[in-house]
Amino acid sequence: MHELSGSLDGAVFEPGEAGFTEELAGFNLAVSHSPDLVVAVASTADVVAAVLYAARHGMAVRVQATGHGSEEPITDGLVISTKRLNGVTVDANAGVATIGAGARWGAVVAAAAPFGLAPITGSSPDVGVVGYLMGGGLGPLARSHGFSSDYLLGATVVTAAGDVVEATPDSEPELFWALRGGKGGLGVVVGVRVRLVAIPELYAGSLTFAAANVEAVLRGWIDWTAAAPDDVTTSVLVAKFPDLPFLPPHLRGRFLLTLRFAYAGSAREGERLAAPLRALAPVETDALGTMALTDVAQIHADPTDPAPGWGWGALLTPIDQDFATVFGDLFNPTASIPFLAIEIRHLGGRTKVDVDGGSAVGGRDAAFAIHVIGAPDPTLFAEVLPRAAAGFADAIGAWIAPKTTINYAHHFETRDDFARAWPDATFARLEKVRQTVDPHGVIAYGAG
Ligand SMILES: Cc1cc2nc3c(=O)[nH]c(=O)nc-3n(C[C@H](O)[C@H](O)[C@H](O)COP(=O)(O)OP(=O)(O)OC[C@H]3O[C@@H](n4cnc5c(N)ncnc54)[C@H](O)[C@@H]3O)c2cc1C
Repeated sequence: MHELSGSLDGAVFEPGEAGFTEELAGFNLAVSHSPDLVVAVASTADVVAAVLYAARHGMAVRVQATGHGSEEPITDGLVISTKRLNGVTVDANAGVATIGAGARWGAVVAAAAPFGLAPITGSSPDVGVVGYLMGGGLGPLARSHGFSSDYLLGATVVTAAGDVVEATPDSEPELFWALRGGKGGLGVVVGVRVRLVAIPELYAGSLTFAAANVEAVLRGWIDWTAAAPDDVTTSVLVAKFPDLPFLPPHLRGRFLLTLRFAYAGSAREGERLAAPLRALAPVETDALGTMALTDVAQIHADPTDPAPGWGWGALLTPIDQDFATVFGDLFNPTASIPFLAIEIRHLGGRTKVDVDGGSAVGGRDAAFAIHVIGAPDPTLFAEVLPRAAAGFADAIGAWIAPKTTINYAHHFETRDDFARAWPDATFARLEKVRQTVDPHGVIAYGAG
């Protein structure tokens, strides 16, 4: 039995032991981890014990909740698995949710909705609240409500020294500033408190257009975004579905554009705002209308089942008709580029406005975010997809913003890579915070 086992509320898994592989399984099936030890924590005391054990034995600490950020295999050190810390409570009077480090956004949406309240989530209910929030977080209401980390009120953190601290604007202002978008290397978050918003009405969903109309809709949407109201958030997903039996028949072998739309207001006003988009071309599937708060996952309809995944992402400056031409030349029904889909999200509005006191999130200047989803074939992940994505990035280089935001970063390894995820002054300040809270680099500082 491992020396930590007897003293934990949770469990310890060593390589080869039953439960080791299952505990580490994440969303990306192309990545399997083989650390030296997994501590499946069930309390704050467990996190402290795990961090102190790792520090004593010179082991790097990494944290996994859902594995949605997994891109590279972990081959050493100690992994803290937080999925048992999945409690969510809502104080409806205060409009605050208290959320454990292992909870997913779907659980918060479900707990808040009966009170007419909602968290400012990402597109997928399966993504972990804490990993997502620590990277800022751009969701379906980004333009009307800003980055999700703008709603962070406080976090309970175990530092690299094993101290338990409450990070709030008053008690640990630098750490609190850093947790709002500064991502890794800041400690192990045990739980967070998040401000909920009242959303009495939501007009949201998607419009899907067939291949023959993809170019016209992309061009029309780009023009429309130039004067789009700040309280409407839209995005497009252009997807090229393989002709494979596991897909539903209406998607198999098809090239489609899905335009997502979200407006936190009345159906009448939502319909008026969406009318120019509905008029861009004949709509094949109209799934846009009044939406229950518990259905927000349907806006993007992200995949829910774990699968092999490879992605590339960037932030963009304003795009135009020349961008649409380059995009259409590279990604069309007959193009050979090995991408399953390309998503472009419209940013701006509240994403440009920092919170009082400031925050570490990168990407406030960006106009759009782009995300490429590679063909889900792991034999392409090492060379073919990186080369194809590099070629695509070159082709749209004129519109790529010099900086990105860490939740959109993929395959980052070096300090120079990470420096691109924040404005220079923010990155320098983050490095100082990391140096203060973790001078010996116990908590690994990864992307994802
Ligand atoms: C299908 C899908 C949809 C997505 N949609 C969006 C979106 O709409 N908007 C957006 O901004 N991003 C989105 N992302 C990116 C996502 O926000 C990041 O990958 C995020 O890191 C996932 O967090 P996780 O906890 O679920 O994943 P994990 O892989 O479990 O964790 C990722 C990282 O978060 C950090 N972390 C997690 N928990 C803790 C903790 N308790 N203490 C300290 N560090 C911790 C660690 O650095 C860890 O490596 C999406 C990703 C996927 C796969």
